[in-house]
Amino acid sequence: MTTANLLEFDLEGLAAFCERLGEKKFRATQLFRWIHQRGASDFTQMTDLAKSLREKLAGTARVEALPVLSQHESADGTIKWLFDVGDGNAVEAVFIPEDDRGTLCVSSQAGCAVGCRFCSTGHQGFSRNLGTGEITAQLWFAEHFLRKHLKRDERVISNVVMMGMGEPLQNYAALVPALRTMLDDNAYGLSRRRVTVSTSGVVPMMDRLGVDCPVALAVSLHAPNDALRDDLVPLNRKYPIAELLDACRRYLAHAPRDFITFEYCMLDGVNDQPEHAQQLIELVKPRGGLGGVSCKFNLIPFNPFPASGLLRSPQPRVLAFAKALSEAGIVTTVRKTRGDDIDAACGQLAGDVKDRTRAAERMAQRRLTEHTVVMHPARRAEAHAPDVQEH
Ligand code: SF4
Repeated sequence: MTTANLLEFDLEGLAAFCERLGEKKFRATQLFRWIHQRGASDFTQMTDLAKSLREKLAGTARVEALPVLSQHESADGTIKWLFDVGDGNAVEAVFIPEDDRGTLCVSSQAGCAVGCRFCSTGHQGFSRNLGTGEITAQLWFAEHFLRKHLKRDERVISNVVMMGMGEPLQNYAALVPALRTMLDDNAYGLSRRRVTVSTSGVVPMMDRLGVDCPVALAVSLHAPNDALRDDLVPLNRKYPIAELLDACRRYLAHAPRDFITFEYCMLDGVNDQPEHAQQLIELVKPRGGLGGVSCKFNLIPFNPFPASGLLRSPQPRVLAFAKALSEAGIVTTVRKTRGDDIDAACGQLAGDVKDRTRAAERMAQRRLTEHTVVMHPARRAEAHAPDVQEH
């Protein structure tokens, strides 16, 4: 008999499941706390649940994490996990500790259909959406593993960034319940400001997210004009920059932070010239009756991989670019990378991209500890050097 994986449910979904078992709603809250706050997966441990409920659960439900294919820990404390999501697909989550926070970067899809030129995940193509349970399982596993690993009783993960593999807003139906579980005080209790969804600009879904579950928003911009962005981020042909910025302005009416974060991967000779900085300033600064967009910029070092045909901008050019934006009054951060010694730094895996077929073959053969799956470089940089400024 197929049982339901309870990681699939936000609290409302779990309440509906409990009702189907003939149980009262408050039982769902107790169960939810056992699973997410205490990391329990064995119903017999849940001692304040009625025995009759525990027996019902044993026959109808399970709490099942994703199989871990590999785990690597960096000297700087960064830990990355590769999770098996079946059929030769794997996704990655990365934990980045800092003095004042612990950030988990979470994947939303196996592969990605957007196909950004500078992104290794995009070059791999799209395999499938993750389910809510597969998104939530990354946090559930990481949080409870880390509590044991670091010998901590209290919460370890304070921030989640949906910046792993995939375009989260192209997996909206699965994403939102997972976000709700992250925010729920009976589960992880994360503040909306500390949960960030990163998008390449799926405009209709940005509008829906603002209404359904407003959290912090990062937008992968990467180019200051449509001609260039059409080339780097093909989704721009559907939702060009003007529409994207309008959506950002609408989102700000709901957002828990009063700015949008723009991600900008610095590509040598492509988008890193002084005129590009000037065009960005003109895009986002208020002028001539136009409102501009309240924002900050993250400039991200690109780690080249052969299929991209792109190179990293030299550091002096990155700094000059940052200076131009800053002097125009735009808060600008130049990312550094973390976890270099475990190939968890920005785009560092790009040179080791394995094609999907070979990866699938290897994973079918055995659980590979050295297997490599590439997170997209822009989000990886964000994940590995999370924002140090709280707004
Ligand atoms: S950068 Fe993001 S949206 Fe673009 S292909 Fe990579 S994962 Fe997809």
